[in-house]
Amino acid sequence: MPHRLAGLGAAVLLSACATPPAPPAEPHRDPAIAALLAEISPQRIEARIRTLAAFETRHTLSETDSPTRGIGAARRWIKAELEACSREAGGRLQVAFDEHLEPAGARVPSATPIVNVVATLPGTQPSSRDRLLVVSGHYDSRASDVMDAHSVAPGANDDASGTAAVMEMACVMARRRFDATLVFMAVAGEEQGLLGATNWAAQARRQGLQVEAMVTNDIIGSPVGDFGQRDARQVRLFADGLTPLLRLALRAPANQSTEDAAAQAAVRQQVDDFARAGGSADFPTHQLGRHLKEAAERHLSGFQVNLIQRPDRYLRGGDHLPFLARGYAAVRFTEPFENFRHQHQNVRTENGVRYGDLPEFVDFGYVADVARINTAGLATLALAPAPPKNARVEVLELTNDTALRWDANNEPDLAGYRIVWRETGSPVWQHRRDVGNVTRIVMSGLSKDNLIFGVQAVDRDGHASLASFPLPLTR
Ligand SMILES: [Zn+2]
Repeated sequence: MPHRLAGLGAAVLLSACATPPAPPAEPHRDPAIAALLAEISPQRIEARIRTLAAFETRHTLSETDSPTRGIGAARRWIKAELEACSREAGGRLQVAFDEHLEPAGARVPSATPIVNVVATLPGTQPSSRDRLLVVSGHYDSRASDVMDAHSVAPGANDDASGTAAVMEMACVMARRRFDATLVFMAVAGEEQGLLGATNWAAQARRQGLQVEAMVTNDIIGSPVGDFGQRDARQVRLFADGLTPLLRLALRAPANQSTEDAAAQAAVRQQVDDFARAGGSADFPTHQLGRHLKEAAERHLSGFQVNLIQRPDRYLRGGDHLPFLARGYAAVRFTEPFENFRHQHQNVRTENGVRYGDLPEFVDFGYVADVARINTAGLATLALAPAPPKNARVEVLELTNDTALRWDANNEPDLAGYRIVWRETGSPVWQHRRDVGNVTRIVMSGLSKDNLIFGVQAVDRDGHASLASFPLPLTR
């Protein structure tokens, strides 16, 4: 790779001459992950999207008693499907309703039960099973008027696509064993204000659950845009931890619980610490985005994950936001272009144009590819160690080197640590070096003033953790 012969480009080049770079043994494809991805079935995804659309509406305020129509029938069917998958896989997938009574609010005229369907695949490594990796889609749908609980609202793309992808991931991954715990969620109340996800995230924070990653899949059904532009080898990944945290730091609600207040104080501290250290693009959310992109592009050749440093699109939101607001790493997958005639629209034909979120506008093979992208990222993470804790860059005196230290991990299959780095303008890691099973390393000739570093823990099978951003150690 040609380097600029000035500034930090020269520093990197100098170092490459002085010490050999990491061996190019990786990136490699993990055959176990490749086998997992091959099991993901576009046919099953298609069948599930068509079934979800056939409930006519899955509006959060729609009927719950009918066996064939409305959100109640939809959630009972999702739960039964996941339970069938669990039985086939030996019963390790734990499927349950997660219900709360949402009080009347902006988009809920009277108190309404909000019911998530949650399937948990417990981790099998004692030191990792408390690490939760959450993946979601929302199964509620809407028509043109967000309060219209009666009109047909098939929601095939928004978000039967995400729901079917998450169901397929749960069914395929339930047949395997992972170190960390995977939580597959079909949530409700998204269109009424992210209600199901907010309640789950708040409970998780209150219980001190260690959510290492949260990924929502919302509108992943089509690679075709408004103007007919098409690219089935791209997906957008919205990954930005800073903006919602800053917003949160500015206005904390008056009636928040002690736990939420404590969590938010911690989040505010994190914002300050990272920003002061030049780590505005190195929150855990950004590291999660980098990991998902890297793992996906490594395992699906020709597929591009477009990392976007925004929490979401303008005027829109998703179920990752309540996780972000509570200091968890959380990101959103969405198709590359979007066609707004096929979202949040009553089903109709106007001047020869078909409106509505119908299965005929969904590309089931594309949904399967996005499910594979999720699976590559989540499976590699669920097999990897935890990110190293307490990573620090020593800033005790003026040097042109970089001394890094961190706390030792305790996984039994830990092999050692990897230092990754990049120039400040690069969104992704550009270099890496495996440094063995140590908890301090001096990166000679690489200046902390010019580069951004991360520390990863690596297991004996080569699975690398999310990177930890080293905060300055000043005394
Ligand atoms: Zn949606």
